[in-house]
Amino acid sequence: MQKIVNNGRKVKLVDTTLRDGEQTAGVVFANQEKLRIARLLDDIGVDQIEAGIPVMGGDEAEAVKEIAQMGLKASIMAWNRAVIRDIEASLACGVDAVAVSISASDIHIEHKLQTTRQDVLRRMTAACAFAKEHGVYVSVNAEDGSRADMDFLLEFARLAKEAGADRLRFCDTVGALDPFATHDKVKKLIEHTGLEIEMHTHNDFGMAVANALAGVRAGATYVGVTVNGLGERAGNAALEEVVMALKYTMGIDLGYRTELFRECSEYVARASARELPVWKAVVGTNMFAHESGIHADGALKNPLTYEIFDPAEVGLERQIVIGKHSGTRAIINKFLEYGIQLNDEEANALLARVRALAVEMKRALFDKELVYVYEDFQRERTRDIG
Ligand code: MN
Repeated sequence: MQKIVNNGRKVKLVDTTLRDGEQTAGVVFANQEKLRIARLLDDIGVDQIEAGIPVMGGDEAEAVKEIAQMGLKASIMAWNRAVIRDIEASLACGVDAVAVSISASDIHIEHKLQTTRQDVLRRMTAACAFAKEHGVYVSVNAEDGSRADMDFLLEFARLAKEAGADRLRFCDTVGALDPFATHDKVKKLIEHTGLEIEMHTHNDFGMAVANALAGVRAGATYVGVTVNGLGERAGNAALEEVVMALKYTMGIDLGYRTELFRECSEYVARASARELPVWKAVVGTNMFAHESGIHADGALKNPLTYEIFDPAEVGLERQIVIGKHSGTRAIINKFLEYGIQLNDEEANALLARVRALAVEMKRALFDKELVYVYEDFQRERTRDIG
């Protein structure tokens, strides 16, 4: 039986492809692309969409407004500094939720904001209370919370709750944590405040997804994600990776339409001009490609021998790649796709040719090349007999 709850509450995702994702250096989405991405995320089943930063005005505010008016099932959240003017701009877009963000670490408070902890608490509570007075859902974001002094962060969270915050976004802004430290900190936050926690993790050490899951294990009920892990520097926790890892490593099935993942990832890859690598976890085309003789043989006998879930679950297909590492079973299977039944002797002879060609060209063979190899083989055999 799969559980869908954590700490007695459902786990939900907030996708920030349109905000943190677009903050990636060099990435800009056109408004039409933003609307399309929002629609795809909603079709997938994402609970909340962080659509942008209205106080920037112009196209940015226009896109947030249009997304809020699309009639999507998802909650639409806008991002704000802990500044009344920002929140007014968000409210004007008709969103039902706001994120109110301010730094919680001393390095940010002293060097970026150039102020004091007390001033941060004052600004945060005033902004949060203002948003709550206007009837929207509020996430208070503790920026750089992962590097904040823990006692200060607990006070920050307690005051946010008193000011009416619906949840606290625990931001590992520079990807500084590992899963063990993440678990400890999130557990402490929940124990001391009872506030719902959102994980917002960055991938600087390649641990964004692992840290997000560690937070869920500690009781966090929201996970912030982006399609393909797009985001500042090394990016955020990837939507598709978090959903599938929650399901298969923690038994938490969000009930999303995961079969749309590949399509969504391809669209965002194009719109962001960030190519989707073939080895991308969960949605890369290599996820279900097998070449080595032993793996291909196993996968053909029972896919679960070398695949963690079925390719159709994320909109992909299994591929048996024929190349240097192939074995006879894969060759026999491949030619069967063309209606050609090989006996063992023929399969061995073709395998030798295929391997030699793959080494010579330093790559796997296209299907058409396999046909050429077969035709050459047939011609030579006929000549030998003749
Ligand atoms: Mn971020």
